[in-house]
Amino acid sequence: MDDLRDLYQEMILDHYKNPRNFHIMEGANRRAEGYNPLCGDRVTVYLLIENDTITDVSFEGSGCAICTASTSVMTELLKGQSFEEAEALFASFRGLVTADPSATVENMGKLAAFTGVREFPVRIKCATLPWHTMLSALENKHEPVTTE
Ligand code: ZN
Repeated sequence: MDDLRDLYQEMILDHYKNPRNFHIMEGANRRAEGYNPLCGDRVTVYLLIENDTITDVSFEGSGCAICTASTSVMTELLKGQSFEEAEALFASFRGLVTADPSATVENMGKLAAFTGVREFPVRIKCATLPWHTMLSALENKHEPVTTE
């Protein structure tokens, strides 16, 4: 298990140091801001939606390693997903990090790397903030998202 844990930590650090899709999207048609006051994480998620499908995702902001890596991995996974697929993925991910008994790492790919946050309850909000923010953008809500 230690090898797996190292691999996960490496992946999280890689996404923290080299976040994917980390830029403002000029042509975005959805956008939402999220804030986690417990940690100070701030993230803005940009979506390009066409025919109920997420065709492009990007983000900017400043967050801790867990938040930035979670956002970066999320942007990689969401491209080409429908609203329902994006919501289902978030439900699975939230189950995983909150240790829901029905959650499984099967088919979670890189998201499995965040399983370790369940041991650090304050970090769960760091990991889920970008996902809540993405959902708010999908639903076209205009109030900023806060984890409080
Ligand atoms: Zn954080």
